[in-house]
Amino acid sequence: MTTTALATSPLKATDRCDSCGAQAYIRVVLNEGELLFCGHHGRRHEAKLRPIAVEWHDETDRLQPQPTPVTD
Ligand SMILES: [Zn+2]
Repeated sequence: MTTTALATSPLKATDRCDSCGAQAYIRVVLNEGELLFCGHHGRRHEAKLRPIAVEWHDETDRLQPQPTPVTD
C-alpha cells in the first residue's frame, strides 16, 4: 500500500491573490513556482494557466455566495 505524498495543504486566510491582494482561494502550481489567486483572478487566468499547471488547487467552493446589495 503506497501513500501519495501529494497532500495539498489548504489555503490559509493569510494567502493573498498575486493580482489584487484579496484572500486567495486558488493555488496554481507551476514548474517554476506557484501562484495564488482569488476566485475572480483564478477564473480570469484559468484558460492561460491551467494547461501548464502542475496542479490546480481550487477552494472557491468554500466561498459563500455573497448577497450583493443592490444599490441602483
Ligand atoms: Zn485577485
